[in-house]
Amino acid sequence: MAVIAAPEPVGGGEAAPRLTVIGTGYLGATHAICMAVLGFDVLGVDTDEAKVDALNSGRVPFFEPGLPELLAKALDSGRLRFGTSFDEAADFGDVHFVCVGTPQQPDSDAADLRYVDSAVTELARRLDRRALVVGKSTVPVGTAARLTELVRRLAPAGEDVELAWNPEFLREGYAVDDTLRPDRLVFGVSSDWAEQRLRAAFGPVIAQGTPVVVTDLTTAELVKVAANSFLATKISYINAMAEICEATGGDVTRLAEALAYDDRIGGRFLRPGLGFGGGCLPKDIRAFAHRAEELGVGQSVAFLREVDAINKRRRARTVDLVGELVGGDLLGVRVAALGAAFKPNSDDIRDAPALDVAGSLHRLGAHVTVVDPAAADNARRSHPELAYAADALTAAADADVVVLLTEWSEFRLLDPEAMGAVVAHRRIVDGRHALDPAQWRAAGWEYRALGRP
Ligand code: NAD
Repeated sequence: MAVIAAPEPVGGGEAAPRLTVIGTGYLGATHAICMAVLGFDVLGVDTDEAKVDALNSGRVPFFEPGLPELLAKALDSGRLRFGTSFDEAADFGDVHFVCVGTPQQPDSDAADLRYVDSAVTELARRLDRRALVVGKSTVPVGTAARLTELVRRLAPAGEDVELAWNPEFLREGYAVDDTLRPDRLVFGVSSDWAEQRLRAAFGPVIAQGTPVVVTDLTTAELVKVAANSFLATKISYINAMAEICEATGGDVTRLAEALAYDDRIGGRFLRPGLGFGGGCLPKDIRAFAHRAEELGVGQSVAFLREVDAINKRRRARTVDLVGELVGGDLLGVRVAALGAAFKPNSDDIRDAPALDVAGSLHRLGAHVTVVDPAAADNARRSHPELAYAADALTAAADADVVVLLTEWSEFRLLDPEAMGAVVAHRRIVDGRHALDPAQWRAAGWEYRALGRP
């Protein structure tokens, strides 16, 4: 990984606000650590004691390249610590970043706001001096307006406490760089004071020339879901083209390559394959569609339902391809599943297409052995019915078919001859268009990929 030189730290003067970060998961821990590295005094607060203990002892409780080194540095500086006390948070902080989870509700497409509501309630009740509460979690439009009222009603300091929204665009796997050098900052504010507080809290980032877009609360909430909807749509667009290629004999990888030369279209997020997953895109587009329906403008984003459906069909089609390679019946078939994380360089298995496919193959009677460089422990906890191996060659031993589900670079670099020597049959489904078909076919493999002849 490239070494990231931190921007100039803030001076210790009065202008530097003391920061709290409420919720120290993928987003919050990264934010807290990076802000401390940038020179701020930071207190991270989480209800999960084990997570707090891990962070205080220098261990990042999830996989994120570069973050463990920065945690060590931040703890050494004495500017960062973690706790579970909202009393301490209210006492310590001038600017409070709310970074708790907003998962999908169990029985609905709506976002589950109970963690946001609880965190803001617990904090607001204790705020007895001027402070800014900044939402970073991804929320349905209208949440910030509701929370503004809640904070005013609950905070002993009343109208001296303000709420702002600062949506987060970091990508897991690149979270450190995205936090230290974001492509833009969005400040949803209701007053100049809130904007100035945010400018102070991001001083070192803004000093590098990072563009700042200042909006109202509503627009800031919408920017995040609009961005994720666009990205999801782009992925499903090319995967819809893959479906057409499958029906017509076209090759979607050449189609995508040809489209990408048009700089109005561009090649990013135009990679066909097994589709998107993770803790953001799927639940965010569903929550957006649900919220739009509540507001009576469901038609405007009705296409997101189709985007979601196309994405899910890629998973089913991948299972079908594996079945086709073994002649239809998966009962007793030995499958080596390369990948569990929703994308490479992450241990996040939330709504992971890879595990969805592996689980479906298992339910159809296959013996599935999963290998993933970072996500195996998480996968084992959520899918104990699957077998796990430490590396690709072990997973592939005696396999009837290999299926590549997460495009980790070590899977991209696999040697078809070495793999061929251990499998029972040289058959591979490349769910991520990550391999060179010519190379694998030359080594005697039957190679199949979504949207390719
Ligand atoms: P996460 O599940 O990893 O972390 C959430 C944390 O909040 C957990 O540690 C949990 O214990 C803690 N928490 C829950 N209730 C709490 C409370 N009342 N007080 C204090 N802590 C509490 O989730 P995440 O991936 O970090 O996502 C957080 C938010 O950020 C979500 O809204 C998500 O959509 C958004 N987001 C995430 C990413 C990403 O890449 N992960 C990127 C951009 C935006």
